[in-house]
Amino acid sequence: MNLQLNPEDLAFRDEVRAFLKANLSPEVIYRSRTEVHPPNEDDRRWWNGVLNKKGWAAPSWPKQYGGPGWTPIQRHLFEMECRLAGAPELRWQGLRLIGPVICEFASEALKKRYLPPILEGTEQWAQGFSEPGAGSDLASLKTTALLEGDEYVVNGQKLWTTEAGYSELGFFLVRTDTTSKHGGISMLIIDMKSPGVTVRPIEMINGDVSTYEVFLDNVRVPKGNLIGEPGSAWTQTKFLLANERTSSADIDKAQGDLRRIRDIARKTQKNGRPLLEDPVFRQQLAQLELEVEALDWAVLRVLCNAPSHHPVAASASVLKIRGSQLQHKLTRLAVDALGLRSLRLYSREDAFGASASDAWPELVPGVMVDHLYMRACTIYGGATEVQKNIIAKQAFGL
Ligand SMILES: Cc1cc2nc3c(=O)[nH]c(=O)nc-3n(C[C@H](O)[C@H](O)[C@H](O)COP(=O)(O)OP(=O)(O)OC[C@H]3O[C@@H](n4cnc5c(N)ncnc54)[C@H](O)[C@@H]3O)c2cc1C
Repeated sequence: MNLQLNPEDLAFRDEVRAFLKANLSPEVIYRSRTEVHPPNEDDRRWWNGVLNKKGWAAPSWPKQYGGPGWTPIQRHLFEMECRLAGAPELRWQGLRLIGPVICEFASEALKKRYLPPILEGTEQWAQGFSEPGAGSDLASLKTTALLEGDEYVVNGQKLWTTEAGYSELGFFLVRTDTTSKHGGISMLIIDMKSPGVTVRPIEMINGDVSTYEVFLDNVRVPKGNLIGEPGSAWTQTKFLLANERTSSADIDKAQGDLRRIRDIARKTQKNGRPLLEDPVFRQQLAQLELEVEALDWAVLRVLCNAPSHHPVAASASVLKIRGSQLQHKLTRLAVDALGLRSLRLYSREDAFGASASDAWPELVPGVMVDHLYMRACTIYGGATEVQKNIIAKQAFGL
């Protein structure tokens, strides 16, 4: 693999930079950079629409369905530039998870109905996989969808359904056949406004509400909303989870975090000198910079080498483990660099309201919230221990 950017890639990067500069206001950049979790929903939908007008909303989709036809390197550069410029982080459930599944596995009717609003950002999605008794062992899920005439009748409970409280649609794993474990699972698109869908918020350790319980009581869903054949969802799920885990490397966030840590350390004084000049701190920062750089190249290698640019499961699991461990270290170093200032748990009102006039407002809010939220990143998308099992099995045949 050639590790140098060629002139076309450099020109592409300049084009992206110019576009970002022309389209992002200081207010939007400020809101994105303070990273109060969950990110501002209006900004995300608006930015989704802006990117769609340019044809850039869905970098990982095939061109025939609205993808821009970029190489993996261009996709990577685009995501990095967006993060560094302070663009709103787009909702990943539609663009990165279910969108590619619909492109690959769904009927033409479903493609026509559901893909355009994902590109436009007008319909957002929630991922209804995990249940109270089915997280790591996802195939133990119990939610049923039984066919009655032209409709499935769905009953069950989902847990940890991120952003379900403000999503128009959900893709749910359901059991259409109760006699077969893996072979009985199907993926069903459910309108979150359907009668029988109840969404209940879960308050997180950082004070935010970004994830939900979803109760499904006799929810009637047209049978045409099933993706692929009944019982075929295990293949679709593996495809989706490999994409999710590669994204979970969160390499663009890691680069953004490094930038923020450097900014904090430049403005923080220790023994009369900027923290950035402290030898111990510099050593910690340099170590993380190297680890982020190494992960950056590992992500690119997987994206460039994977068949049709979809990562294979073991590689995706390696990236997921490394990326989430790095998130723990990065958010910890940001907290350490801020010292006592980090102790305040900023709410959205604190960060953007009357009290937002603190010194360096763009650096302080969101640091502790992010640190606490990111404790979960070694769990969501599949726990670290489970990723290690996948690597042992798929890469080493154990
Ligand atoms: C913030 C957050 C957001 C989430 N968002 C979503 C979402 O949008 N949609 C969704 O469907 N799910 C979501 N999840 C759920 C997430 O995917 C599950 O929490 C995860 O898969 C772990 O499942 P579990 O919580 O049931 O834990 P369990 O499966 O009960 O695991 C508990 C512990 O046991 C260990 N363990 C389990 N099995 C094994 C094994 N075979 N070998 C070794 N160790 C094992 C795990 O590593 C873990 O530490 C989210 C979770 C969090 C925390």
